[in-house]
Amino acid sequence: MKYAFDLGPVPAVPVAGTDMFFPIHRIYCVGRNYAEHAREMGHDPEREPPFFFSKPADAVVQNHATVPYPPETQNLAHEIELVAALDKGGRNIAAERALDCVFGYGVGLDLTRRDLQSEAKKLGRPWDLGKGFDQSAPLTTLHPVGKVGHPEGNAIWLKVNGELRQHSNTKHLIWAIAEQIAFLSRYVELKAGDLIFTGTPEGVGPVKPGDLLQGAVDGVDQLTIRIGVPIV
Ligand code: MN
Repeated sequence: MKYAFDLGPVPAVPVAGTDMFFPIHRIYCVGRNYAEHAREMGHDPEREPPFFFSKPADAVVQNHATVPYPPETQNLAHEIELVAALDKGGRNIAAERALDCVFGYGVGLDLTRRDLQSEAKKLGRPWDLGKGFDQSAPLTTLHPVGKVGHPEGNAIWLKVNGELRQHSNTKHLIWAIAEQIAFLSRYVELKAGDLIFTGTPEGVGPVKPGDLLQGAVDGVDQLTIRIGVPIV
């Protein structure tokens, strides 16, 4: 096939312990998947089926990068999340077999322009510009399941300038990773290269230029991101 122009390389993140990169197909994110976070956002965590939004594949930022403070927001918020990376996909995947699709795990930030997202919620509009903006998905190296297993009872935390802001455990996920994969695969065909940001625990809040964000899922990896000067 002859393209009219070159789009450049496929977005990718390194695979730990190898010289390979994991190519990114799509990025799905689940909303309100820790009960205490659902409550802090004013929702009842007991009543909702999972819901998803997405980010562009090229929203990924490598670990240790500086992320410029994005335009058109006064409220850039941090959401630390466990990220599942799929190397197999399919439709109508049974929950019992869903973890077979997981290549490995990383630690990501679902950076959010909270003011734009809140306005979109209020007006019944899409979240795209609140969630899927440039450089909104910092992500560590990916760690194969053979090395880290399935992190189903791991501490997840985030510090801003050394101060602990978010702290929970992946055992508190409302919808487990296998359930998220099964649910999503009823609506879209999942494919190798898909990432799932599995939701953030309580303690989300704003960041400002110059802030140092350090977060982790213990036993997986640690993510370190600096917020840079605003894009003008
Ligand atoms: Mn999130």
